[in-house]
Amino acid sequence: MRVGTHVSIAGGIENAPGNAAKVGAEVFQIFSRSPHGGPVKPITPELVKKFQAEMKKHRQDTFYIHTPYFINLASTKNNIYFGSVSVIREELERGSKLGCRAVMTHLGSFGELSEKEGIKRVVSALAKIMDGYRGKTQLLLENSAGAGKLVGDTFNELASILYSKQVSKYDVGVCFDTCHAFATGYDVREKKSANQVLKQFDKTIGLKKLVMVHANDSKGEPGGHLDRHEHIGKGKIGISGFKAMVNHKALSKLDWVLETPKDHPKDDPQNINLLKKLRG
Ligand SMILES: [Zn+2]
Ligand SMILES: [Zn+2]
Repeated sequence: MRVGTHVSIAGGIENAPGNAAKVGAEVFQIFSRSPHGGPVKPITPELVKKFQAEMKKHRQDTFYIHTPYFINLASTKNNIYFGSVSVIREELERGSKLGCRAVMTHLGSFGELSEKEGIKRVVSALAKIMDGYRGKTQLLLENSAGAGKLVGDTFNELASILYSKQVSKYDVGVCFDTCHAFATGYDVREKKSANQVLKQFDKTIGLKKLVMVHANDSKGEPGGHLDRHEHIGKGKIGISGFKAMVNHKALSKLDWVLETPKDHPKDDPQNINLLKKLRG
């Protein structure tokens, strides 16, 4: 297991590996563009060279890209729907140029649609994204906190998307966000319940689909559908939950990336050190 965190690309993507090394991250995650939209800096061959030199210099070898926040693959508004499809495909292509391991994305919200209609729309969006894609960066779907009508909160919902006829032929994986799972009602506070949750994941989605973990404690109660991340051990999941998950045989092989608050420069190093300690 390697431990890392989400880092800033302020001043240029080439600054990310140094930002990661500075806080003791062994892997890292970035937004390759502003998460709120706006102009996008192209990935030129010069930038790739600079970025890869920085990766080497700071002894980083694996990183991930998170798609922007406005993604909604279930939207009935065509500009949002097709905009989301093209942005995710672009992030996969941009990631492939930079040598990114995987791009993870939220799926959006059902809005007025029924779950069945919404899933159909998400499935055909994913098929559009993957059609003809030849890059090396893998697409991951992130489990959601289930607030409102968010797509992909339960393992069953993710499985019905991943194993649909249109999507199952592609190598699409899952990013497991511990806060989102807990907010959805998966109780990972103790070893026994965490084992059960992962057993359930294996039965519905299959642990082979699990590629990485978003390590976040939760400000909200289990099943509270509140997507508010907290420092590791300071939230409602607590240390015992993270100790159990970090040492679970399926999760201990994966990369763990923090998305915890960054109010103080010490926040990231503290959370990273804590996870490193828990892994033993
Ligand atoms: Zn996310
Ligand atoms: Zn996350």
